[in-house]
Amino acid sequence: MAKYEVIIIGGGPAGLTAGLYTSRAGLRSLLVERGVVGGQMGNATLVENYPGFPEGISGPELGSLMHQQAVRYGLEVVIAEVTGITQGQFYSVATTEGNFEAAAIIIAAGSEYHKLGVAGEERLSGHGVSYCATCDGFFFRGREVAVVGGGDTAITDALELTQHASKVYVIHRRDQLRAGKALEERALAHSKLEFIWDTVVEEALGEKILEGLKLRNVKTGQQSDLRADGVFVAVGFMPNSHLFFDILELDDAGYIVTDEIMATSAPGIFAAGDIRRNSPRQIAAAVGDGVTAAMSAFRYLQETS
Ligand code: NAP
Repeated sequence: MAKYEVIIIGGGPAGLTAGLYTSRAGLRSLLVERGVVGGQMGNATLVENYPGFPEGISGPELGSLMHQQAVRYGLEVVIAEVTGITQGQFYSVATTEGNFEAAAIIIAAGSEYHKLGVAGEERLSGHGVSYCATCDGFFFRGREVAVVGGGDTAITDALELTQHASKVYVIHRRDQLRAGKALEERALAHSKLEFIWDTVVEEALGEKILEGLKLRNVKTGQQSDLRADGVFVAVGFMPNSHLFFDILELDDAGYIVTDEIMATSAPGIFAAGDIRRNSPRQIAAAVGDGVTAAMSAFRYLQETS
């Protein structure tokens, strides 16, 4: 079994940064990524809020640069799906490309946005369909947008979008919000927000760019079209943590519980980025987590070897 000092699970900004730091610290490091290195950055046409790029940078390009930088300092990368972690004298990470062993693990496997699963959603993703108001709201200055969902994320996003958009519709499948009272009161009082209750999206309309939404009222069955330049889907997140529930403490929503040094409930296992509890879900924040987790892993290995 190939042996490393650190194994990093997940090749988004948190994992790649952790790998850069552990490699530069001289630790033999392996990063396991199941898809494309770069993670969710790969879906971002333009990233305007990552410091150091005043004109913005495309997400895939930023991911590729982070990858190149980490590999330059010795990070090894394998494209494989992790199927389990077991603890013996070291941690053994089973993957579809074989088993690997390390004394320290950094989990940076991210989270996934719940999708609506409607026609047109995938085709228009990045072309009017977005899952991140903080990332993409700025592109909709003076335009009309819709937010789907009734939870804290949807209402926070809707309020944030009022800073940019001329009009923000909130489309919710029930007639009551799940979001906290304070947010609800602010949203209901906001002149730019309009709620469309008891309604689901049936289709994202437009060929190359979003032009509107096909809606259906779930009580009356009536269908209608809503003109919109953007739609922000905020119907929940799913952390990629199902493999770790029996070895790590997770919160009720399945996020990994960490302390301020990114240590989890298991010695030698650290977590970074969107998979950890209370992550702000931003590239810059994930990068910071990756640094912290790598430095904590380094200290852990020094103290235990
Ligand atoms: P959430 O609380 O699970 O809310 C998801 C919303 O999407 C619900 O209103 C749900 O409707 C709706 N929904 C789910 N599937 C749908 C579908 N297929 N079609 C249409 N609507 C659908 O998720 P969240 O808002 O992302 O929040 C996640 C956690 O983070 C929560 O614990 C939240 O409190 C926390 N959070 C807190 C803040 C804050 O500022 N305090 C900000 C963001 C998030 P139903 O209501 O009908 O189920």
